[in-house]
Formats: sequence, C-alpha cells, structure tokens
Amino acid sequence: MSSNTPTNASSNGPKNNAPAAASGDEHKVSNFLRQIIEKDLEQGTYASRRWAGTPGDAAHHDSGQPDPAKIRTRFPPEPNGYLHVGHAKSICLNFGLARDYGGVCHMRFDDTNPEKEDTEYVNSILDAVQWLGFGWEANGQQHLFHASDYFDFMYRAAEYLITAGHAYVDEQTAEQMRAARGDFGKPGVDSPFRSRTPEQNLARFREMRDGAHEDGSMVLRAKIDMASPNINLRDPAIYRIRRATHHNTGDKWCIYPMYTFAHPIEDALEQITHSICTLEFEDQRPFYDWLLERLAEGGLLQAPPPRQYEFARLNLTYVITSKRKLAQLVYDRKVSGWDDPRMPTIVGLRRRGYTPESIQLFAERIGVTKSDSWIDYSTLEGCLREDLENKAHRGMAVLDPVKLVLTNWAEVFGSDEHTEDCTLPALPHSAIAEGQTPPPDRVFKIGKDVWIEREDFEEVPPKGYKRLYPPRPGADGQMQPGNVVRLKGGYVIECTGCTRDAAGTVTEVHAKVIAGTKSGTPGADSVKAKAAITWVGASDGVQAEVRLYDRLFSDPNPDAGGKDFIEALNPNSLKVVTAYVEPSLAAALPDQKFQFERFGYFVADRVDHVAGVKPVFNRVTGLKDSWGK
Ligand code: ATP
Ligand code: MG
Repeated sequence: MSSNTPTNASSNGPKNNAPAAASGDEHKVSNFLRQIIEKDLEQGTYASRRWAGTPGDAAHHDSGQPDPAKIRTRFPPEPNGYLHVGHAKSICLNFGLARDYGGVCHMRFDDTNPEKEDTEYVNSILDAVQWLGFGWEANGQQHLFHASDYFDFMYRAAEYLITAGHAYVDEQTAEQMRAARGDFGKPGVDSPFRSRTPEQNLARFREMRDGAHEDGSMVLRAKIDMASPNINLRDPAIYRIRRATHHNTGDKWCIYPMYTFAHPIEDALEQITHSICTLEFEDQRPFYDWLLERLAEGGLLQAPPPRQYEFARLNLTYVITSKRKLAQLVYDRKVSGWDDPRMPTIVGLRRRGYTPESIQLFAERIGVTKSDSWIDYSTLEGCLREDLENKAHRGMAVLDPVKLVLTNWAEVFGSDEHTEDCTLPALPHSAIAEGQTPPPDRVFKIGKDVWIEREDFEEVPPKGYKRLYPPRPGADGQMQPGNVVRLKGGYVIECTGCTRDAAGTVTEVHAKVIAGTKSGTPGADSVKAKAAITWVGASDGVQAEVRLYDRLFSDPNPDAGGKDFIEALNPNSLKVVTAYVEPSLAAALPDQKFQFERFGYFVADRVDHVAGVKPVFNRVTGLKDSWGK
C-alpha cells in the first residue's frame, strides 16, 4: 500500500520532543510535507506563477500579477456534515503550512455533489475554521471559494478533452462497464463506444447536457488506457447525468462532474501549489496529473500544475471520524446533537471545553506521516491539560455533597450566623510566568455549615484512610479522638460523629472547628492535619448542575472491521450530578474553564450555563493523577 517515508514526526511522542505549537513559531518539527515545500521554494518551482486575484483559467491568471503567495494550499470540505477532529488535523496542516511559508490557504467548499449540501453545514464549517484560529483573508483578499462556481469551466474542460480525443461518451450499462474494467490481475476491455469520433462524442455530450437522456443512461469517460495496472486510469468516468437541484446553481445543470475530475481542476483554477489529501487518494494521483497535463497542453490551465501529496488520516481511539456515522448518532438521538460534548466534532470538542490552542498543539504533536496508525485518545486529553494547566483558574466544587456541621461554631465565633472570609489563589504560583501579575485571589466564606464530599467521611475508616472519621477505640481499647483534617483554605477541624436517616444514610457529619488554625494566619500550623479536603461553604456555595462526561464508546476501535459502532456505545458516558460550587465558579462566563481542585478540568457550558443563576458545568477531563487516598 503506502510507502513509509521517513519523517521526524512522532505520534504520541514524549513531552520533551514536542514543538511549541500553541505559542507559535519557535521550533516546528519537520515532516515530509515541510521538506517538499522547502525544496520547492528553494528551487523556485512555483515562482513564475501569476495570480489574477480570483480563480480562473490560464488566460485569466496570465493577466494578473506575480503571485504574492509563495505557496497555496486549500482546505476543501464537502458541506455535508459538521467537521470533526480529523478535519481539525487537516485544517491545522493546510492553514498552518500556508502561514509558516508565506502562503495562503484557500477555504473551499467542495460542493460539486448536488444532493448533499446544507447552509447549516456551510456556516458551521466556517465557524469551526475560525474558531481554530485560522482565516482565509490574505493580501487584502478573501479566499473563500465554491467548487460549484467552476462548473462552466469544468464543462469547457470536458469538451476540450472530447475534441482532443481524450474523452468519449459511453452508453454501456453500469454493470457492463464494471465487468469490462477488469481487476488487478486482468486488463480491462475496450468499450464498443470507445472508437467514436470527437464529433460524435461532442454531439452526444451536448445532448447529455441538454437533458436529452435519462439519468444513468450514459457517462463521459476519459480515454486513457483500459490495460493500465492502475485501475483508476482505465477510462474513469468524468461526467454523469443527474437531475438534481444544486444549492448554488439550481437546475442549470443536469450533468455533474465526478469528484476525481472536479478536484484537480478546482486546485488548478485556484493556483494551488500543494494539494494535500489523505492516503486513500494515492491511487488517484496519476489521473490527477494526467488530467492537468492534458488541460495545460490545451492551454486551458497555467503551468506548472498543482501537485497532490497524501498523508495518513487521523484515527483516534474511542472515536469515530466519519461524518456519516456521526450523523447517525445525531439522528438516532444517541447524543443530544452535533455539539454534544461527547461528540468528536469541532463544535462538540468546543462545548466539551477543548481550546483551539490544545487542538493545534495536538495536530502539531501527532505530526504528519505516510502510514496509517491509531493515536491514543489520551494524547488529545494530554494536550488539553497542558494548555489549561497554567490558564484555568482553580476552584472548589463538591460533586457528591453531604453537610458538615461545625458544632462548636457559636462557642468559638460567638454566633451560629458568623462567617469568615477565606482566600486561595486563583492560580498556583507555578502557573504564573515571570513578570506576570497573578489574578486576584478567590474569596469564599466559611460558616457553621459546610458542604463536603460524601466519600470524605467514613464511620469505620478503611486502612490508611486519612480523611474524616469519628472517635473510636484504639488497639488498647481506649477511645482515640476523631481524625483531624484541614478544610482547604479554611480551618482545621476534628471529626466528632455523624447522624443517619432511617435507611442508614449519613445525613450530617459533625466536627469541631479548632480556633486559631485558619489558613494563612500565624497559628495555622499549630495543629497538624492528616489531610486537606475540598469543601464549599453552605452560606455562599451555589447549587450547580455538573455533567460528568466519559468516553462515548467503550471500545477503543468502535467501527473497525465493519463493527456496529452503536453496540460499542458506553452506557455510562454521561452522569449528571447536583453539586455545590464556590462563588467564583458560580459567576463564571459561558465557556470559561476551571480546574475543580482534585477533580479535573471543567467548563461552564456554553449553551445552558447562566452565570450566578443557573450554573452548568461540563467535565472536560480528569486530572492526570487520581486524588487522595
Ligand atoms: P468523512 O468521511 O467524515 O465525510 P471526508 O474526508 O469525506 O470525511 P471532506 O469534507 O471531504 O470529508 O474532508 C475535507 C478534508 O478533511 C479533506 O481534505 C480530507 O482529507 C480531510 N479529512 C477528513 N477526515 C480526516 C481525518 N480523519 N484525518 C485527516 N484529515 C481528514
Ligand atoms: Mg468526502
């Protein structure tokens, strides 16, 4: 299949190999595409090209100026679905190469297929590209194009091929054509229509265009070589009859170009230099070159023609990257929509809390190779953690709350209603770059009642348990005092017991606050705590909905080998809990990311979260290390 071109790109490489992608330019890991581009620039392969400011044929560009773009790449999605993380790789690659080499990347909708387009998809694609940090404006021009704008030229190119004896109308049935194509070991057989004259073919082709023939009754084929070892060169079909209304051209056409014919022409009209696609198009490259050479011979297209290069598509474990299958998840309501935070779509990743920087870092880190492989999902999560580590403000949330009552509160502070302000830094010291002003501290209140995690109390502590447990007899039969822990950023407390309901469920945990131990005060360390636990004050804590997302599939390769990916759905991919969060979290703006201490990264949901009123958070990813004991 594909050759293994040596590259320096690492999939899953260790951290210290990683380029500083998110921060820009310092050092980019080289790869075979960069090497090709650098060589082309050195040799001036494309230096003589001219650019007329808009796509067009040879005459059009000849009238233009020398191309201000050193290279031209393009991102050409079909607007038939939402983009996913695989497209993100392609976006970062194409726009990134153009940026790095003084080039321009074209945003092109590959909308030659009349049936599948939708403006909802068009808008979401533009949005995704911009959100990732890229754009199509350069040298004072917009480089946003639609392949369907080239139908007139494509038709002209087809007529040229016919006139020059390079194409013919074939009226065999689809089955006859398939049978005559041969296979790997067997050459194909010429069609009985192959020897028609250019005049006959031209007349027939015009009849096709004018609607004189039924859908599927005939096709236009390139006339190349029915015995070619590459089956794609055995007279591929280039135009078919299809009565369908196109979103851009309406009913103007009842014939449409095949993708393999359209794509090279789109590249050439746009003066693309490096046309980068995934490996499955490798066998199409000879036809790509054949077609552009013929059209350059005929003077229709400028030389030198674009060249196609193939790279390995992204395969990510636990993830599906097929628009069609993702659409099925949406339409079968297995997820809440294209932007469900479990979806690998760009809108899904965004809602989940991924940042553009983390996705760019991921794209850079996995690199570009010529051989297919699977990237572990943890690589993507790792890039996000790395990006958020120094950015996401810290905060405390209690996800499985039980009330802790500090029974001696009034004794110590004079009143049950008394509260004390506590502070903790929004970012740890290590996250503040030199010379950078740290963000203001978080302020939150401690009072008599506090929310703590249910798992932070055990009436009978398991071995090694360091959190709250009540007094109990020691080995010598003597009563030992309850355990002493610190409420993080607050006071040291000593556990005294609990209350339970009729079913035996703990309803309250009881403890004594130890005066003079408040964090940050001189006496703070006078009493030694065995552990510090996270908490939220009952007086200023805010109830929040927290959506605990897990992987959408339980199988690392959910659709490999024709498996039914629906069966691989993880039934526990979403758990919703009612939590309490500290005031700084409740006040979050939609899309704001936080590290919930001990739990991982969370984002205020960009759709449902209402600051201060109805906080809703999504779990982005857990922390690398599991917390506590
Ligand atoms: P799908 O099969 O999901 O519809 P596609 O390849 O048909 O994907 P297009 O809209 O044609 O989707 O793709 C636009 C660009 O994105 C193409 O250049 C394609 O090579 C690239 N691309 C799509 N999927 C991946 C992937 N998994 N990894 C890298 N690039 C991808
Ligand atoms: Mg496609």
